[in-house]
Amino acid sequence: MIYSYSKLSTFENCRFQYKLRYIDKIIVEKDTIERFLGNVVHSTLEYLYNDVIKGGIREKADVIKLYHWFWKKEYNDKIVIVKKQYGKDHYKLIGERCVERYYNKYFPFNQNKILGMEEKIQFKLDESGKYILNGVIDRLDETPKGDIEIHDYKTGMTLPSDFHMNKERQLPLYQIGIKEKFGKDKNIYLIWHYLAFDHEFNITKTEDDIVKIKNETINVIDEIEKTTEFTPKKSPLCNYCEYFGSYCPK
Ligand code: SF4
Repeated sequence: MIYSYSKLSTFENCRFQYKLRYIDKIIVEKDTIERFLGNVVHSTLEYLYNDVIKGGIREKADVIKLYHWFWKKEYNDKIVIVKKQYGKDHYKLIGERCVERYYNKYFPFNQNKILGMEEKIQFKLDESGKYILNGVIDRLDETPKGDIEIHDYKTGMTLPSDFHMNKERQLPLYQIGIKEKFGKDKNIYLIWHYLAFDHEFNITKTEDDIVKIKNETINVIDEIEKTTEFTPKKSPLCNYCEYFGSYCPK
């Protein structure tokens, strides 16, 4: 079976959610405002860089207009606001600030050569090909020195600690696929942009770190494949779960 980072995290957060989503394949048309905001910001930055690849740069005001256009086009009444003290406009403004700050920081966007956006990858975790992972990289760059950078945009309202970021395994896993593609000798840098905080985490992983992450991931997959009981796990994440109040008994 082919896995993804989000599939593995779903299993680790709540096995019942994993079963409903990936085994029973129950689709509930419900989104949270946080996910929606993230998607709109991602689409805006993708357009911005598409223009850069073609040799043009939109004015900041045009990029913000584009953000509002995506927001209006995609907004629908299935979007849930969990934190009732805030309204839709609160989130819209956060997204606008994310885009604006990013623009101010990286204009004229010529730091690196862009190799791809929303780049799909698939790679093996073991020689036999029993453990396969899929992923999508927000942006893949080549630096002037010829190194590779894997970029990920985050729009969450909590800034993680360095300790937490060092334990993150999404981009380190993607590093495995990128090394396969570009060669073992390439230097790879992992960059997370916490846009709401205008903060960047820039992390490198050694081969030993990667082997450790690979083995941990294989263990999670083995655990998934031998699991027969998928019990619900109540947590603050339930408020953001599409099965909350319907398919889930919790
Ligand atoms: S509501 Fe909570 S316990 Fe139920 S499936 Fe979702 S995450 Fe799991």
